[in-house]
Amino acid sequence: MRRLILDGHYGQRVEIDLCAPCHLVWFDAIESVRLTGTGMLSLLGEMAQAQREPHQLLKPDARCVRCAGRLKTVHNRSRWGATLQLECLRAHGAYQTFAQFLSEKGFVRPLSSADRAGLLRREQGLHCLNCGAAMGAQDQRCSYCHSSPGMIDVARLARALDPDGATEAHAVHSTAARHAALQCLACGAPLPPGQAVQCDHCGATLAVGQLSQAHAAVSVLEAALRAHAQSPAPHVRARRLAQLEGDLPRRRDWARQMEAESRGAASEPDDRAFWDDLRERPRSVAAAAGLLLFIWWLFWG
Ligand SMILES: [Zn+2]
Ligand SMILES: [Zn+2]
Ligand SMILES: [Zn+2]
Ligand SMILES: [Zn+2]
Repeated sequence: MRRLILDGHYGQRVEIDLCAPCHLVWFDAIESVRLTGTGMLSLLGEMAQAQREPHQLLKPDARCVRCAGRLKTVHNRSRWGATLQLECLRAHGAYQTFAQFLSEKGFVRPLSSADRAGLLRREQGLHCLNCGAAMGAQDQRCSYCHSSPGMIDVARLARALDPDGATEAHAVHSTAARHAALQCLACGAPLPPGQAVQCDHCGATLAVGQLSQAHAAVSVLEAALRAHAQSPAPHVRARRLAQLEGDLPRRRDWARQMEAESRGAASEPDDRAFWDDLRERPRSVAAAAGLLLFIWWLFWG
């Protein structure tokens, strides 16, 4: 078991344990939710690296990393579908296989027969998303780790790493539009809905069958994501400013309304000292503070 220290939101460091031979990650509570794009990218890189090791089955009596207590299998439903994990009975955290983690985040789609045929046509063949082992042409489960095969949606992964769109001009994102349009935007050829792996006409990659390929496809975004984390990309900053400007009349109305409410029916206090006035209007002070915070986030957040 190896401890990874990854980038989290608000400058935090998130610690995640990874067991390379078992192809498992251990999360304390909600750690995975707080990873930034660069944190997620590092984790994917570590997982891809771990797939070079042969798979070792988890011992049936595996224990909690924190308290060595018993674990239970818990079935969860994320917005992407059903997933499962091994949770500590005392709620210290949970194990997930790499494949479960990727599915829960919505990066994986089930392998269709067209996907299978497409992968088998290519020289790499069919591989397990979880442990990376080669799979037989007809296998429904990996013979080493029992994971079912799937495809990683590269565009969806790229979008999840960069919710602000700091790297939206990069080619890896344009595959999303190709999916939505059901035709290749690069060459206009029609694509079968939700099933395309690669545009037969121009070769654009839409989904890949191996974690290492997915990592390679999105790791080109790393430098731009790091730069954006330091200081928002100019086009993201401009978009936030435009949103703020569009929103200003509503915010002004809201502040006015708060002010009017806190004054009640009383007449205008014309000769009160400034700080007395503020004390009487805590809600509009809170609104102003909120606005200042928003502006801080816009430029430095
Ligand atoms: Zn292990
Ligand atoms: Zn525990
Ligand atoms: Zn496997
Ligand atoms: Zn094309």
